[in-house]
Amino acid sequence: MNEYLVLVVEDDKPIRNLITTTLKMNDYRYITASRGHEAIMLSASHKPDMIVLDLGLPDIDGVEVIGQIRTWSEVPIIIVSARSEDQDKISALDKGADDYLTKPFSVDELLARLRVIQRRLGKTENASVTEFVNERLRIDYVSGCVYLDEKELHLTPIEYKLICLLAKNVGKVLTHKYIIQTIWGSNAENSEASLRVFMATLRKKLGDSEQQLIQTHIGIGYRMMKL
Ligand code: CA
Repeated sequence: MNEYLVLVVEDDKPIRNLITTTLKMNDYRYITASRGHEAIMLSASHKPDMIVLDLGLPDIDGVEVIGQIRTWSEVPIIIVSARSEDQDKISALDKGADDYLTKPFSVDELLARLRVIQRRLGKTENASVTEFVNERLRIDYVSGCVYLDEKELHLTPIEYKLICLLAKNVGKVLTHKYIIQTIWGSNAENSEASLRVFMATLRKKLGDSEQQLIQTHIGIGYRMMKL
């Protein structure tokens, strides 16, 4: 039995039904909302473990819903948006959403995203502050050393910052803007192009050419997977 409670926020009834049927068949518990204000209230009163949130809602924008919920909660949020809403998707991720699904999406995709979140939720419970371990990767925060199969990697300071940022947000999609601002500061001159170069060399050192550890989300950003 799955103990997770999911809040589904979607005004489009067929899509909402598709999501709730999928959840039910996979033993998730769920509650639903079709409007933004209702979603904010339900997330405060029911404290769901995860939220699946449509961005185009009839009363307030999904991005605003995220902003409000993030003032008191770090609950994982998966946004659902139409392909035409790419800019909104990026704003939502910048506001603190964890992941996204683009309509039309398959039931399998939805379940895969939920599992990514679950792995992260499971991970935070026994998280260690001084060390990060993800399959072959180990970061020792105290000494500032990164190991792959217990062999030390020689990373530049920027690469080290990058891998720590991705590790801290494991399972979460980080936008280019967020990464650039966090690594280089808010008035950074650095572009997505230079971020790509740093990411390529980091990946090479990690032996991650297949992108199993660090996923590229084209036009959006990057995510470290919990392996
Ligand atoms: Ca909608």
